[in-house]
Amino acid sequence: MDNGKNGCSFLDKVLNIVKQERASNTPLIRFKHPKDLEAILDLDVTIGVDDEKLEQCVREVLKYSVKTDKSIFRNQLYGGTDPYGLSGAWIAEAFNTSQYTFEVAPAFTLIELKMLRHILNLVGIPNGDGIFSPGGSLSMLYGLVAARYKAFPEVKMKGMRALPEVVVFTSEDSHYSIKKAAHWLGFGTESVKVVKTNENGQMVVKDLEEMILMEINSGRYPLFVNATAGTTVLGAIDNLEIVADICKKYAVWMHVDACWGGSLLLSQKHRSKLRGIEKADSISWNPHKMTGAPLQCSVFLVREKGLLHEANSAAAQYLFQQDKFYDVSYDTGDKSVQCGRKIDAFKLWMMWKARGDSGLCQLTDHVMKTAEFCMETVARRPGFRLVSEVLQCPNVCFWYIPRFMREKDENENWWALIHKITPKIKELLTMSSQLMVAYSPLRNHKNFFRLAFTFHPKLEEAHVLDMLLAIEECGEKVTMAML
Ligand SMILES: *Cc1c(COP(=O)(O)O)cnc(C)c1O
Repeated sequence: MDNGKNGCSFLDKVLNIVKQERASNTPLIRFKHPKDLEAILDLDVTIGVDDEKLEQCVREVLKYSVKTDKSIFRNQLYGGTDPYGLSGAWIAEAFNTSQYTFEVAPAFTLIELKMLRHILNLVGIPNGDGIFSPGGSLSMLYGLVAARYKAFPEVKMKGMRALPEVVVFTSEDSHYSIKKAAHWLGFGTESVKVVKTNENGQMVVKDLEEMILMEINSGRYPLFVNATAGTTVLGAIDNLEIVADICKKYAVWMHVDACWGGSLLLSQKHRSKLRGIEKADSISWNPHKMTGAPLQCSVFLVREKGLLHEANSAAAQYLFQQDKFYDVSYDTGDKSVQCGRKIDAFKLWMMWKARGDSGLCQLTDHVMKTAEFCMETVARRPGFRLVSEVLQCPNVCFWYIPRFMREKDENENWWALIHKITPKIKELLTMSSQLMVAYSPLRNHKNFFRLAFTFHPKLEEAHVLDMLLAIEECGEKVTMAML
């Protein structure tokens, strides 16, 4: 049924609905299990409803949605959005266009090019190229495709049968997207060679070189090293300078997964942690994580100009006609694996335009200061124990040890109990809407908590103390219930 409505009057209400449902007194989460939630929500779409009823339905949906803009949402590496970025997202959605040709996105095309240029200067590859992609996992695909095409251009026509047996390297703490990419691109997950990390989560570079040599001696082709600048759990930054030297020595493509840690480049004080990134062949960075650009906003950069286009172009004649009435070098869409592509660069541009380099620098320094405070507090506080004592990115990882377990013999059973209690504490924190926090095992480590900090909302020390207090409180409640 059309009802003769066009929906425009509903648009006028949207801002208010969002404001009210995100108000400071609404809880972070009203968790319901899937079946219970399904019973509450009116999701059927068979019969159209009037705007009043629709508003009710929308409010109900938002009521049970996670308020990721709250300080106590620490579940992921993204969180609250930059209000300027959110404005950009709303504008981008309203102007609904695709970033492939200049004719449908003239100003947005120039904005993407400007942002790429600005970011390339920031990483120290002023003559490079790049593209905004839907996320870090997609950027990993871009990196591998670029490296493969560079080494074996015939792959584009002949496929994998034109290649020798290829291997790629990554650290054991790196992001899983390289495994997915290796599968999707036909390398297979067995071609991903995993290099050990040290106790702080950094790739053991001595092992990397040995493994490359071993693969060469076994007749395989080392194509790609994935160094991580900011691992997902510990926030570790690999020694990029040494990785660059090794890659150069063996003529292997160097990719830096800076999805998380790339934001540190915005800070004069912290950018030196990524020294060596300027030697990379390709880089991925997710402004949709630490900086608070609305999802999705992710950048893939590549040193060699023209390579993205060569590797990815299909020269579709209906879209990228060469006899257009304007300079078709501004039709950048054929660099992409996508056809339609959202104008994600605009969200980042809005934030950057409003805050400038110095505003983003201040936010970076503040987020690191918050993490430092958290790490120092956790180190001192009874019942808390750090997993890694080196702060690289704003990740603080720790165990909570309930009172009755302190000063006991820390044998296998003791750790098994910590492993079981940690998710229980998380459950209680979530159910009581006090905190959504990440937990994870890692290598030989049993489940621990990760508090990672992002630009928005801007946190004070009191916020951090409240989070630790909530963990302590729920930790004791959970163990009381177990005893
Ligand atoms: C989050 C993350 C990714 C994946 O990014 P998505 O945008 O979520 O696909 C890749 N690498 C690292 C280190 C990450 O933390």
